[in-house]
Amino acid sequence: MSWQQRISRRLEERAAAQAWRCRSALQPLDGCRIRFEGRDYCNFASNDYLGLSRHPAVIEAWRQGASLYGVGSGGSGHVTGYTPAHQRLEEALAAWLGYPRALLFISGFAANQAVIGALLDKEDRIVADRLSHASLLEAASLSPAALRRFVHNDLPSLAGLLDKPLGGQQLVVTEGIFSMDGDAAPLADIAALTRDRGGWLMVDDAHGIGVLGDEGRGSCHRAGIRPDILVVTFGKAFGVSGAAVLCSESLADYLVQFARHLIYSTAMPAAQAQALHAALAQIRAAEGLRAALQRNIRRFRHGAGLLPWQLAESQTAIQPLIVGDNARALALARQLRARGFWVTAIRPPAVPAGTARLRITLTAAHSETDIDELLEALRDGESQ
Ligand SMILES: *Cc1c(COP(=O)(O)O)cnc(C)c1O
Repeated sequence: MSWQQRISRRLEERAAAQAWRCRSALQPLDGCRIRFEGRDYCNFASNDYLGLSRHPAVIEAWRQGASLYGVGSGGSGHVTGYTPAHQRLEEALAAWLGYPRALLFISGFAANQAVIGALLDKEDRIVADRLSHASLLEAASLSPAALRRFVHNDLPSLAGLLDKPLGGQQLVVTEGIFSMDGDAAPLADIAALTRDRGGWLMVDDAHGIGVLGDEGRGSCHRAGIRPDILVVTFGKAFGVSGAAVLCSESLADYLVQFARHLIYSTAMPAAQAQALHAALAQIRAAEGLRAALQRNIRRFRHGAGLLPWQLAESQTAIQPLIVGDNARALALARQLRARGFWVTAIRPPAVPAGTARLRITLTAAHSETDIDELLEALRDGESQ
């Protein structure tokens, strides 16, 4: 089969499975409204949970950073791309989260790939929650270590895998809040079990950082644990993009030597680091926004409990409605769109087969009316 035949065949299969993905060029209007092809929508699909992507102080910090440092970093951090702005942000993140060191990465995807790629050898084992993010599972399957996946949030399943004989080291991998389900990992129990078996724990808290815990320190802080490796990302509640790995002094030194995504990739712009520093200050003081988000979550769950779909075990901003069938999920998303709500239908392989869903995300910027109207549109959609 030629390259072209292979590509055409795979595209046809995608379309036939109702799994076709496409992008829409959306114009953001404010905290939760977007414009597409001349029409305005209320956005229930964004991870900008606190609305910080448009915060004036964050925008101003980026502007000033650009004036001071230019818009590009000009190289990897190992060459000339590391500035006092990067250094200050790393120090602030480490102090905020209670770690000796923080290392910046351009994305959460890169951070996960870099850590797993640099750390694991052939005789090692990665024991990851089955529902871990694609960036973690992909990194794990690319690494020479064995990948074993435990049943989602299931401690006996985790223990069973950890107890299997092994020559090398083992790394337990989970998320703080699961990106497609919104539920929380039992972090304290996982940490205890991992420590007991002599392994290391890596937690990706992309969806917990900024929104959970005191000053938004995230899932681990809330659970009273400090994993060996904590990955936080800045594309969600921080409203920007990028990521940081929090770890010990020696692991940070090790990653600076061996993490290929740091060495062979242009560092994040210093202006972005300045903006992130400003976003961090906003996050620490955002108790009001976090409370507004919690009110919105409660209001949505109360209303959605009366709908016929299974409501997930989620107390977070991620509120999936599991519809099951791909075509049905797409049809519902289309009906919502016709009513002015932007919600995405998430289908396999992003989620397990037969669990296509509307992944509704709430933010502090939604009003009670936005939520009530979405619920009404869902009720009407269901009866069609
Ligand atoms: C979004 C996300 C990532 C990827 O982070 P980016 O900064 O967007 O690359 C990694 N892990 C989880 C759990 C995520 O939800």
